[in-house]
Amino acid sequence: MISLDEARAHVLDQIRVADPISVALADAGGLVLAADVVAGETVPPFANTAMDGFAVVAADTSAAPVTLDVVGTVAAGAAADRAIVAGEAMRIMTGAPMPPGADAVVMVERTNYDETAGRVEVEITVPSGNHVRGAGEDVRPGDLLFEAGTQLGAGHLGVLASVGVTTVMAYPRPRVGVVSTGDELVDDGRPLAPGEIRDSNRLTLLTILEESGFDAIDLGLARDNEDAIETAFRDGVARCDAVLSSGGVSMGAFDYVKVVLDRIGAMRWMQIAIKPAKPFAFGLVDGTPIFGLPGNPVSSMVSYELFARPGLRKMAGQSALLRPARRAISADDLGRHDDGKTHFLRMNGGPDDTGRWHVRKLGGQGSHQLTGMANATALAVVPDQVDIQAGDEVDIIPLGTLGS
Ligand code: AMP
Ligand code: MG
Repeated sequence: MISLDEARAHVLDQIRVADPISVALADAGGLVLAADVVAGETVPPFANTAMDGFAVVAADTSAAPVTLDVVGTVAAGAAADRAIVAGEAMRIMTGAPMPPGADAVVMVERTNYDETAGRVEVEITVPSGNHVRGAGEDVRPGDLLFEAGTQLGAGHLGVLASVGVTTVMAYPRPRVGVVSTGDELVDDGRPLAPGEIRDSNRLTLLTILEESGFDAIDLGLARDNEDAIETAFRDGVARCDAVLSSGGVSMGAFDYVKVVLDRIGAMRWMQIAIKPAKPFAFGLVDGTPIFGLPGNPVSSMVSYELFARPGLRKMAGQSALLRPARRAISADDLGRHDDGKTHFLRMNGGPDDTGRWHVRKLGGQGSHQLTGMANATALAVVPDQVDIQAGDEVDIIPLGTLGS
């Protein structure tokens, strides 16, 4: 058996960061910038009002209440058709440009407008600049907006849209194919014949890929023979940037995934000192990484978390490849084992109001018992020969959105 760190280092060494491409801004959510982005426009582009109200000359309000002549209306998207001078005001709506000559806005709630007379009473004194948003208060041309390496979230995309950026240089979102292997697998909903089970890994892996921000491609089901597995892998290599398979990497007589990978690519088969997910094959076929995950449903998810997710994040230009490790208080005895492996236990729980994690051990810790994994919010990491009792601290890997 080799250590988790050695196995993961092997995978990460073999995977290279994808070449950056130009991506339409609308498709860039979640991608990592490959180049700095510098602003070419001003935001806001012009001085405008933050309130619905009346644009005024601030000095006119010093003796408030004061009555002013209303000489026009400016809506958002329009421009004042003339300037204002002392004694005058213009109705103005949020986002509309300040009329020339006006230097302050009085919010509508502090005015009394007599539309028929064309006059407004201003109740309060306001300083120059009141409720005025200056041009360039958010962004000025030449500002470094976001550095290379930034993962683009909703706010980033909004800023880029606000300065008229339509494409960015980013690392492409990995397209990842998923194939299930196994003669026992049924994926069409028919009643099960003796010995058959339903394929659950494929949907799980397709979904977890999407949750991780990758594009998932269904490569279907391959039977336990070399031809079927090779066909699926070649299809995946042609269509995808990486492929995940499940099953067929163990010591069974019909475990052909590792056999095929060895024949058509550069493959390393590993027995890793972890439980679950001990067997794992990783290979490159025509330069495309193929992750041969184990078939047991919990094992395939844990193997995805420990090897595939970090590898795919590297491909996507991410700098933080692993989920941030945390410490948690375990409410349950996690026991001690002496099998030379690091155990990953399915736990439920989360951070309290102070951010301190508390976890409970879920029932059904077998690698075939997917329910526990489905309900898990974290994996507890229990090293060999370490005894963890109720109330002790334990290392955990938060999963899902808790672990980002
Ligand atoms: P294997 O790694 O192919 O020996 O499979 C290990 C265990 O996982 C066996 O009990 C398989 O039936 C089960 N298994 C393999 N692939 C899947 C799958 N796609 N969905 C559910 N169980 C599976
Ligand atoms: Mg199998």
